[in-house]
Amino acid sequence: MNAAATTRTGTEEQTQKKKVFGHKRGCERCGRKRGIIRRYGLHLCRQCFREIAPELGFKKYS
Ligand SMILES: [Zn+2]
Repeated sequence: MNAAATTRTGTEEQTQKKKVFGHKRGCERCGRKRGIIRRYGLHLCRQCFREIAPELGFKKYS
């Protein structure tokens, strides 16, 4: 018996996970949509980031 080539139909469901979170809302703190910093998993505007940064352990860079 010849082993028939089993053609598997690769039906792997590609779950399209879009990591879109908080991009609409803007800053979590003040709601500002300008200058959002998403660098460290934060959703804060620049000004809120500067206020919170010392609390998070970031040093102020002048
Ligand atoms: Zn803010």
